Amino acid sequence: MKQLVMLAPKHLTVREIDVPEPKAGEVRIRVRQIGICGSDIHVWHGTHPFTPYPVVQGHEFCGYIDQLGEGVSHLAIGELVTAMPQIVCGHCHACLSEQFHICENLKVRGFQADGCGQEFFVTDAERIVPLPAHFTLDQGAFMEPVAVAAHAVSRLGDIAGQNMVVMGAGTIGNLIAQVAQRMGANVLLTDIQDARLERAHECGIQHTANMMTTSLANAAAAAFGDAGFALAVEAAGAPPAIQALIPAIQKGGTILIVGVYGRPVELDMARVGEHELNVKGSMMYWRDDWLHAKDLLDQGLHIQPLIDAKYPLSEWVDAYRHIDDNPQAVMKLMVNVGMDG
Ligand SMILES: [Zn+2]
Ligand SMILES: [Zn+2]
Repeated sequence: MKQLVMLAPKHLTVREIDVPEPKAGEVRIRVRQIGICGSDIHVWHGTHPFTPYPVVQGHEFCGYIDQLGEGVSHLAIGELVTAMPQIVCGHCHACLSEQFHICENLKVRGFQADGCGQEFFVTDAERIVPLPAHFTLDQGAFMEPVAVAAHAVSRLGDIAGQNMVVMGAGTIGNLIAQVAQRMGANVLLTDIQDARLERAHECGIQHTANMMTTSLANAAAAAFGDAGFALAVEAAGAPPAIQALIPAIQKGGTILIVGVYGRPVELDMARVGEHELNVKGSMMYWRDDWLHAKDLLDQGLHIQPLIDAKYPLSEWVDAYRHIDDNPQAVMKLMVNVGMDG
């Protein structure tokens, strides 16, 4: 079978290896579609701080169960599935309190362990999330980023009827805005690229604003009137975004950090203290978030406006070149494993 290996940054190669056999408690999946995400591109550029090479990438995918390891009885051959990419230790304080997603010894497939960038992928049956048979491959491959969004929104508690700002209209910011709207929040989604905000409109986001042409205060006033906002999600990973939120959010408000920061950022901590702001993190997801993601996708969460193009497995490198040539415009590229023939 074909397996895609990144030997070093910008050095991606396809190799032929034997189809792996599932051991006890594992399953083998015939991979059909893989989504490429921002963290994959960091690995391509050699700027992902926690990824050693060589690495088999891929952590957003779906496929069909092809073989069951010994003792696996709750899954069936031919079933459409995806899988959570985390490998957890099971004995640290986080695991013992069932906070597996913040395991002290967490490894993530596609980064610190082999991912699904191959024709057949063997993983733990416990990590499998079965999908409805009527799901499209696009929906299946979107489960992981939607689970990221579902987990982020769950960190904010009951959001129904609340005003919320989401900074950063990339794929994750867009999905968070969609999920929050579906859960009853009034959402303003901001970015510095009109192209991303146009996609947001196609996905049904109520309020958008370009931070290059207006201030956050003006955009919030246009969206929410005098009411202001007490909830914010920073999904841009850009210092100006979090720096703009701190003076703009209501006293007692909550800012959730979802964007990935490559470096420490200087913040107005005096205001965080005086205004009694809550600054919280959000890290990946666990099973409930995936089950929620499945429902959200089944209920018609908009994903088609986010998909730019699809590539066969052997041309994965062309997908990276596509992104390198259009870093701001591209939202989501897919790798379709069946296209290789
Ligand atoms: Zn991802
Ligand atoms: Zn652990």
